[in-house]
Amino acid sequence: MKTVGYAAHSADSALVPYHFERRDLRANDVAIEILYSGVCHSDLHTVNGDWGPQPYPLVPGHEIVGVVKSVGADVKNYKVGDHVAVGCMVDSCQECDQCHHHEEQYCRNGMTGTYGAPDRQTGDITQGGYSKHIVVREEFVLRIPDNMDISKAAPILCAGITTFSPLRTWNVTKGTRVGVIGLGGLGHMAVKLAHAMGAEVTAISRSKNKEKEAIAMGAKGILASTDADAMAAAANAFDIIIDTVPVKHDVTMYAPLLDVDGTIVIVGQVGPLEEPLTLPLILGRRRIAGSLIGGIKETQEVLDFCAEHNVYPDCEMIKMEDINSAFERLAQGDLAHRFVIDMSSLSAE
Ligand code: NAP
Ligand code: ZN
Repeated sequence: MKTVGYAAHSADSALVPYHFERRDLRANDVAIEILYSGVCHSDLHTVNGDWGPQPYPLVPGHEIVGVVKSVGADVKNYKVGDHVAVGCMVDSCQECDQCHHHEEQYCRNGMTGTYGAPDRQTGDITQGGYSKHIVVREEFVLRIPDNMDISKAAPILCAGITTFSPLRTWNVTKGTRVGVIGLGGLGHMAVKLAHAMGAEVTAISRSKNKEKEAIAMGAKGILASTDADAMAAAANAFDIIIDTVPVKHDVTMYAPLLDVDGTIVIVGQVGPLEEPLTLPLILGRRRIAGSLIGGIKETQEVLDFCAEHNVYPDCEMIKMEDINSAFERLAQGDLAHRFVIDMSSLSAE
């Protein structure tokens, strides 16, 4: 199937229109017309080559919402016209213990990313959601709950699941004291999801600039990480902290904020940190952990959770042609929400 998207052709060039083919439907494939596509900081890291050389031309995008256009002969759970979604993965081995435990993101044989990864059968490079269409095997397609506003759902597919998964893994519930470092795309979803779970949530931001937004999301307020007195006064104040900072940073300054047995879960920076000091870890049996997106079953759970609790990302709708200026804004790190591309702004021609 012919389609069009926006692709990066090198680490330092802007995204430009790109015509390419989606594969012919395999028996278990679902062909989707993409209606909305969220803009994740990972898209920016990837096209910039922050995570190593990329197989350009590359169409990013892994927060995908659309409508089913056709299905392969063996597809059981989706039919033409259904509203569906695709997140950060489009395949995995389906045979290892991790896949059997519904944690395909930790597939022993490596999951297949939605873009920039070799297809398991042909070796062709996968292309993501900044495009009109995508073809994905049924097992990696999510269902949009009936009562959900599809125009606001896309960021749940990465920002939502990436924060929901650690909140669930660390048993966040009524009264859990949750800190969220970085109030961007992931951070604002972490605040909303933890609040909906009944937690007491504080956003830990570089300044108080986003406090009004943070309170509207359900946070008690902002702890400014640049305010040494406020940071000292907040010692031992959290059971869990979700760290979404997208660059190399100093985790040691946040560790004393944890109570005994507390955990900082890093979901942001993929790469080196400032050298951590063991003292606050040893003095409070505190832990530093990491977490990668979430499995397909859990991604369906977060969609259903958001529909049930009326949790929606704050979306700023953009046109496809505005993606390069959106990337510039994202790089500045001043957003407290997510850009979402309205794919109707991209002509299929
Ligand atoms: P984002 O929208 O840009 O938000 C990041 C936030 O971090 C900013 O809003 C800012 O919040 C804070 N920040 C930015 N620059 C900073 C700096 N130099 N020092 C300290 N804080 C800074 O990004 P995002 O889309 O939420 O993604 C965040 C990170 O998560 C990215 O690195 C992305 O690749 C990664 N990610 C990981 C996974 C996973 O599975 N683990 C999944 C998706 C994304 P304040 O202004 O409030 O300080
Ligand atoms: Zn993402």
